[in-house]
Amino acid sequence: SPLGPTPKLVIDLERLQQLPKDKAGPLARYAATIQSQRGDYNGKVLSIRQEDLRSLAVIYDKSPTELTEELIGWGVLDPEARRAVEAF
Ligand code: C2E
Ligand code: C2E
Repeated sequence: SPLGPTPKLVIDLERLQQLPKDKAGPLARYAATIQSQRGDYNGKVLSIRQEDLRSLAVIYDKSPTELTEELIGWGVLDPEARRAVEAF
C-alpha cells in the first residue's frame, strides 16, 4: 500500500508500569504472560500479535478500535497502531 506495510503493535512496557493498576492491570498481566512464553524479559517494548489485541479488547469490554484509542491515550501504543487495527 502507499502507506507501507501494516505497522506492528508495540507495547511500551516502561510506560505500562507507570500507569495505575486498575487501568493497566489486565494488559500488564497479558504482556507478562507473553514475555514469559517467549522467555523475553529484558525488553523496553513488546510486539504483540494483532490477534492478541482482539483478545485484549474482549477483556476490556471494548471494540479493538476503542481499546487502541485508549492505549494510545495512555501512551502505551504509538498512534501508528491505528493503521494496524484498521487492517483487521
Ligand atoms: P507458537 O505460536 O507455536 O510459536 C513457536 C515459535 O515460532 C515462537 O517461539 C517464535 O519463535 C516463532 N513465532 C511464531 N509466530 C511468530 C511471529 O509472529 N513472529 C516471530 N518473530 N516469531 C514467531 P517463542 O517466541 O518462544 O514462543 C513460544 C510460544 O509462546 C508460542 O508458540 C506461543 O504459544 C506463545 N507466544 C509467544 N508470543 C506470543 C504472543 O505474542 N501471543 C500469543 N498469543 N502467544 C504467544
Ligand atoms: P513479525 O515477527 O515481524 O511478524 C509479522 C507478521 O508475520 C505476524 O504478525 C504474522 O502475521 C506473520 N508471522 C511471522 N512469523 C509467523 C509464524 O511463525 N507463524 C505465523 N502463523 N505467522 C507468522 P502478528 O501475528 O500480528 O505479530 C506481530 C509481531 O508480534 C511479530 O512481528 C513479532 O514481533 C511479535 N510476535 C508475535 N508472535 C510471536 C511469537 O510467538 N514469538 C515472538 N518472539 N514474537 C512474536
